[in-house]
Amino acid sequence: MGIVILTGAAMNSHPSSSSPSSSVVKNLQTVQAEMAAACAQAGRKNDAVTLVAVSKTHDAEQVRPALLAGQRVFGENRVQEAEGKWPALRAEFPDVKLHLIGPLQTNKIKPALKTFDVIESVDREKLARALAKEMAAENRHLPVFIQVNTGLEPQKAGIAPQDVAAFVTLCKGELGLEVLGLMCIPPVDEEPALHFALLAKLAAENGLKFLSMGMSSDFATAIALGATHVRVGTAIFGSRPPVDSN
Ligand SMILES: *Cc1c(COP(=O)(O)O)cnc(C)c1O
Repeated sequence: MGIVILTGAAMNSHPSSSSPSSSVVKNLQTVQAEMAAACAQAGRKNDAVTLVAVSKTHDAEQVRPALLAGQRVFGENRVQEAEGKWPALRAEFPDVKLHLIGPLQTNKIKPALKTFDVIESVDREKLARALAKEMAAENRHLPVFIQVNTGLEPQKAGIAPQDVAAFVTLCKGELGLEVLGLMCIPPVDEEPALHFALLAKLAAENGLKFLSMGMSSDFATAIALGATHVRVGTAIFGSRPPVDSN
């Protein structure tokens, strides 16, 4: 048995090592420490930023160590996967808050409202209208974020920056949705800071307090630019199969 020296490569560690739970907990602590450092550097309080631990593709046994370590806010990108994984975990940890961070098809709204506590991916008018209708029917009113396509990428979902003001007005006014703030996923090949700054500007212009931005590789930058929610998967749970790396 030799001495194992852990370097900054925790992001790339694979959870197939001898003790997945200890690596998840260690990774979680590293992310929390990096978030605290970024908050301190930006002159922001630690509790100004919520860690949304993105557990997509990782099964309940891989998620439980994070729950046991006290993490309570999680993100999933698929309704069906979350429906299968979370009811049992919620029975054990009733104060869990689950965020939907992936695309929502209107035919999945019913199960999504049962499974999630926050919808971060309201990205089009049709969805906003259908959500408002179903929330009223079920009398279950979840807070939402509006997803903004800051890079105007044709393949990516989201409201174009120039349409955000009108969309916020529609959601809050006519539809009566509780809009917490804005969310974005910057283009992979561009400087994320530009997109985070744009999202922060749009939120300020529209009187919105919360900003969901920043992932494993750039959450410190996002915190410097005002993120209130960072969505971190790989840096906590290890790598995912490439097909699910969206
Ligand atoms: C998967 C995913 C994340 C987490 O990405 P990592 O790079 O693994 O931290 C964040 N946001 C969204 C919308 C995602 O789909």
